[in-house]
Amino acid sequence: MPRSVFLFNTHDLPHRPGERKEYSLSLKSPEPIGIDCLRIPSNSLIEVELAIESVSEGVLASGSIKADATGECIRCLTGIDWPISERFTELFRYESVQKNQKNNKRSEQKLDSDLDDLEDDADDEVFVMDGDEIDLELPIRDAVILNMPINPLCDPNCLGLCTGCGEKLSQLPADHSHAETDSRWDKLKNFPNFYKST
Ligand SMILES: [Zn+2]
Ligand SMILES: [Zn+2]
Repeated sequence: MPRSVFLFNTHDLPHRPGERKEYSLSLKSPEPIGIDCLRIPSNSLIEVELAIESVSEGVLASGSIKADATGECIRCLTGIDWPISERFTELFRYESVQKNQKNNKRSEQKLDSDLDDLEDDADDEVFVMDGDEIDLELPIRDAVILNMPINPLCDPNCLGLCTGCGEKLSQLPADHSHAETDSRWDKLKNFPNFYKST
């Protein structure tokens, strides 16, 4: 298996709380990152300004992510470009610390209160270092995907498509209509009892 592009080696960062280093990364994910209708395409550039900081429990990684997502308007299917600009903050624990603190909730709470930058809604997921390596894939994926709109639109006022002909309503005259009723209802005329209770 090829090495993940999201693995980052922190061996240049001394294990002394307060030590900090910054990096500019240009990553290309072999997999698209996003949802069905909106995603950063595979192998397109993801720029990450990464800061790593030594804390007593491990390495605190924070970063800003910039990338360009593409997708389709859910109403009219027009292609849309969606610039991504998100941040993440994640604590990666030293493997030894993780073992010692496995069931020690109290220290975890204290740790959280010390780290004001951590998101309030950070889930219970614990990231553990692999030697000197941290895996940035999940923090980046989460920051990108969780902040994506579920229903992306080409324009907040997009009118969508005409249900009669499938053309964009914005490009049709205001009086556009289809005089014919939907042919799917025609068959119901043969069922005189249709409107009675079931
Ligand atoms: Zn649209
Ligand atoms: Zn139409």
